Amino acid sequence: MSERNTVIENSLTSLLKDESFLPDLKAQTREQAFKSLVALLSTPNHVHKSYLRVALENGTIVRIPAFRVQHNDTLGPYKGGIRFHESVNESEVSNLARLMTLKNSLHELPFGGGKGGVIINPKKYSVKELNLICKKYVQYFNDILGPDKDIPAPDAGTGEREMDWMMAEYKNTHPGEPYRGSFTGKSIINGGSLGRKSATGKGVYFTFRYIMHDFLNEQEKWLQEQDNSFAENALKLKDKKMKVAVQGFGNLGSVAALEAFQCNYLQNEVVAVSDSNVMLYNSDGLDIPALVKFARDHDGDLPKTKEDLSEHKIKADLKERDSLLEINVDVLIMAALENQIHKDNMKKIKAPIIVEGANAPITEEADKYLSDSGTLIIPDILANAGGVIVSYLEWIQGRETQFYKEEQIYELLFERMQNTLDTILPQFFGDPFPLRQNCYIHSVMKLSTILFKQGKLY
Ligand code: NAD
Repeated sequence: MSERNTVIENSLTSLLKDESFLPDLKAQTREQAFKSLVALLSTPNHVHKSYLRVALENGTIVRIPAFRVQHNDTLGPYKGGIRFHESVNESEVSNLARLMTLKNSLHELPFGGGKGGVIINPKKYSVKELNLICKKYVQYFNDILGPDKDIPAPDAGTGEREMDWMMAEYKNTHPGEPYRGSFTGKSIINGGSLGRKSATGKGVYFTFRYIMHDFLNEQEKWLQEQDNSFAENALKLKDKKMKVAVQGFGNLGSVAALEAFQCNYLQNEVVAVSDSNVMLYNSDGLDIPALVKFARDHDGDLPKTKEDLSEHKIKADLKERDSLLEINVDVLIMAALENQIHKDNMKKIKAPIIVEGANAPITEEADKYLSDSGTLIIPDILANAGGVIVSYLEWIQGRETQFYKEEQIYELLFERMQNTLDTILPQFFGDPFPLRQNCYIHSVMKLSTILFKQGKLY
């Protein structure tokens, strides 16, 4: 997981120099206050760690390390997913919790940032054991969770089944208290929201489309006047048929690929997709609906043999998985894992636009190299907030016990993402900072102002 603390520090340094920002903070007090802001936003409020005691079906009792990191609650209850993965560690969970604080602030959500993790490979446990692990997680972190304290959601290795189990345990351990808003990402029948599953993929594609179509068309003249290489590069792609590659074909990647395939605003050709096994390539464009159907029927996997392809009438070449990152396309949508573009492959990336669907898929070093070379990186904090936005809608619906239609959910999702984009884009194309830095500045500015107004910066 790449460190983003320097981005926070740089954002606060540029705000410190801007005398119109928090003008009441003067001279020494100002420097001191900004130093404490860096410390406050770079470190978590609480790191909770427990060893869950779980009796396995074979009779052995194991202790499984589990975390809940509560980064910052200036804007409201902590909010963020729980990851079940063997590589989970405290630093990764803390980094992801910090990203949640900044993401929620950027998109005007009334939540702080949190994240959880359990060090297991969920595939190695039976359903009964996983159920027990979920119950224990809630029992061990019982006092710190709740609809107005800390609201978890799914992340890698967890889904609606785990959220249903956890909410049920929360209900058991808090009799008579409100419980529907204690977890989001639940199944629909159990109080989940329509549209939650597709929200992140749809939001990722919406962000890309809004920048490359809506904003570019509306602001074309203004953009031509800017002395900004990102604006220049984006304008070169206007009205061009764009070749798109998508890394990862799970929940996020498959939805983003389908949105690109079906988009009426931009001419896209999705020429490559990959998963953990394989890359599929067709220079004339892949049949994405057929691949979505195949993956749905094959435990999420893409076809990995020539026989699979011919049996399902899918025209594609099978290629080495990681070569997807280096092919000649206009847009690369990252929808798999962290740290996929790094110092060893950054110089081979050809796409002028990269959309971060996954969290932190580009290391800090590669991010700097690519941004300096003029690659437009649409960052995770901006593009992949669809999940937490619809989680917020689920939380509201749980409190109101009234449920919205799926179209209403998407309308509210896109409206909120558009509001953020309309705030950030003019700022970004008008100044020399990369888009990520602009998002961080905006996010940190909001958090700092609230902390100042609450009298916490003296
Ligand atoms: P998922 O588990 O459904 O899908 C992951 C996909 O990536 C799978 O197709 C897998 O085969 C593929 N993959 C794994 N390693 C790969 C590799 N080296 N090369 C190519 N493909 C590889 O996960 P998801 O829900 O789609 O999430 C993807 C990423 O986005 C995760 O990092 C997640 O934390 C992040 N994210 C997801 C959401 C959400 O709501 N789903 C929200 C925010 C961020």
